[in-house]
Amino acid sequence: MRKLFLLIPLAAMVYGFTTIKTDNPFFSEYKTPFKVPPFNEIKLEHYVPAFEKGIEEQQNEIDAIISNPEQPNFSNTILALDKSGRLLSKVSSVFYSLNGAETSPEMQAIARQVAPKVTAHRDNINLNDKLFKRIKAVYDNRANLNLDSLQLRTVEKYYDDFVRNGANLDDNGKAKLRDINQKLSQLGLKFGENLLDETNKNFILIIDKPKDLDGLSKDIIDAAAITAKQYGYEGKWVFTLQKPSMIPFLQYSTKRDLREKLYTGYVMRCNNNDKFDNKAILLEIANLRTQKAKLLGYETYNHYVISNNMAKTPDAVYSFLNEVMTPALEAAIRDRDAMQAIIDREGGSFKLAPWDWWFYAEKLKKEKYNLDEAELKPYFKLENVRNGMFYVASQLYGITFTKRTDLPVYHPEVEVFEVKDDGSNHVGLLYLDYHPRPGKRVGAWCGRFRQQTYENGEKITPIVTIVANLTRPTETTPALLTWDEVETLFHEFGHALHGLFTDGPYDRIAGNVPRDMVELPSQIMEHWASQPQVLRYYAKHYQTGESMPDELIAKLQRSSTFNQGFATVEYIAAAILDLDWHSFTEPKQVDVLEFEQQSMKQINLIPEIYPRYRTSYFNHIVGGYASGYYVYLWAEVLDSDAFNAFVETGDIFNRQVSAKFRKYILAEGGNNDGMIQYLKFRGKAPSIDPLLQNRGFK
Ligand SMILES: [Zn+2]
Repeated sequence: MRKLFLLIPLAAMVYGFTTIKTDNPFFSEYKTPFKVPPFNEIKLEHYVPAFEKGIEEQQNEIDAIISNPEQPNFSNTILALDKSGRLLSKVSSVFYSLNGAETSPEMQAIARQVAPKVTAHRDNINLNDKLFKRIKAVYDNRANLNLDSLQLRTVEKYYDDFVRNGANLDDNGKAKLRDINQKLSQLGLKFGENLLDETNKNFILIIDKPKDLDGLSKDIIDAAAITAKQYGYEGKWVFTLQKPSMIPFLQYSTKRDLREKLYTGYVMRCNNNDKFDNKAILLEIANLRTQKAKLLGYETYNHYVISNNMAKTPDAVYSFLNEVMTPALEAAIRDRDAMQAIIDREGGSFKLAPWDWWFYAEKLKKEKYNLDEAELKPYFKLENVRNGMFYVASQLYGITFTKRTDLPVYHPEVEVFEVKDDGSNHVGLLYLDYHPRPGKRVGAWCGRFRQQTYENGEKITPIVTIVANLTRPTETTPALLTWDEVETLFHEFGHALHGLFTDGPYDRIAGNVPRDMVELPSQIMEHWASQPQVLRYYAKHYQTGESMPDELIAKLQRSSTFNQGFATVEYIAAAILDLDWHSFTEPKQVDVLEFEQQSMKQINLIPEIYPRYRTSYFNHIVGGYASGYYVYLWAEVLDSDAFNAFVETGDIFNRQVSAKFRKYILAEGGNNDGMIQYLKFRGKAPSIDPLLQNRGFK
């Protein structure tokens, strides 16, 4: 690979090969160093032909598997399927990464154009009877095929995938399932559209008197003025039900009646008995999923989903959530009482209501910790934070990061680093794209331009990318991050390390951990971000270069458990609501609001707190997180316990522990059941105590 780099003159890299128009870059091996995508050569018109050819190639590969006259075996069926579709993944990984990080109306049009083709293609594979027959033949005969454990797991995973999609059903059953899936996808779309309208269009809080802005800082007011302009109320101020607009208002506005108005608008979304109402839709979705689960042989939809996860059974999830709920509720009630005391002291003669929580939490925070975000920011210059996370990774895993300026990037702001083991062996590449741009999706995520894989026994190294929306530098100051942003960067970096270290010959299982384990590699990195010895390394004042003072580090650490009662309770309430909606053993008719109320009563939710998502706007459970909203907290048990494995040795960079973590979780996490891999790393089952301590419940 190094050789390739030497063969390419620098001028060609800079100016690209744009003058050669004959080739679609996706159709031949990339001629770049490390065979990275040649972003300077890829043009919009290359995507659709590459998708089409990619689909065609994979279909040919599938046809070849089916028409193979030999008896089905691992190599001619499972491995052939596992290695099929190279071109399609090659173009997909570039296209969907850029459609998230640097989209345009043209890119979106391409996305719409290829989506039905890709979906139909996936169905052609997943519902292919002849293909399934061959997979089943290998599966049924797997004990006699002399397979090693990874091959065995790969066979079982492919077989499971097909069965979970209905491959074992008779024709009548298959027709029923297709009908259910069809209905579910339409109802899902409708639910999402209603929610979008209710969040962005149907309710806004318009303020026209400056006195109603009391308590709000200049940047909040400025943002509201811009929003007003967008909504056609120039000269006024508008707050919407989107969290970045609503939360600051709830935190700082002294106008209690306006807080009530805004928050009520939020919690009543899609619950106003009009054409945007989602209650009946959600009930129908729950019933259809119940039918689907029964058809596939599961007791409830929860059983169907969770059997595939680390938790294995709905009971395990319920009892876990209930175990955390008890101390979380106690903490929330303590905070509620402390906030009520502030209200009483200030002479307010009212009882704390849900729309007061953020406002008085701010006051309580000030009172308890005297911590101001503005005090922290000068210590979190982006480059310093980045160096801090690199430092942690090199302490743990002995890897190095070398900036590469010779590789093509899709935007001049993107930085690329080569990751090497012990300073010599190439591990992979890391692309970092930090700041918001008009064409970038909100949030932060970790993706890949190339997944690690093996081709004919040779390792192909991964190309991983982190895309975020972090504070931009201004003309006078560098990019200074908030503490939240620091944690976000460390979090995504954990996903990136997972992608970089993944190692395995079969794509179906390599790096493929259960959904309730996915956040372990990411969330564990957040622990290091706040360790005093790590902060002392990277949190240096951007003007003086001085390390963060110990008092400030101590304040930051103390405040980490602030308001965790509330955060945990509202999260668990939503996770329980999700599980309850998917616990039907038969389709049934219920009053949606009564059901929700009953569900919340079971867990003793207090009236000052709503679940983070109520039924009528719980988009996660309509999309991909049905029966799975619990996974973040589940993974937090793992990351807190895993981090304790380091702490217990007295060295947060203990190399023996990190070597095990790298091997069993990051490199080989998909090789076996999640819990088996975890036990290999930890030597014992995870304890819930470290999580309770981190959240200040113990
Ligand atoms: Zn994550």
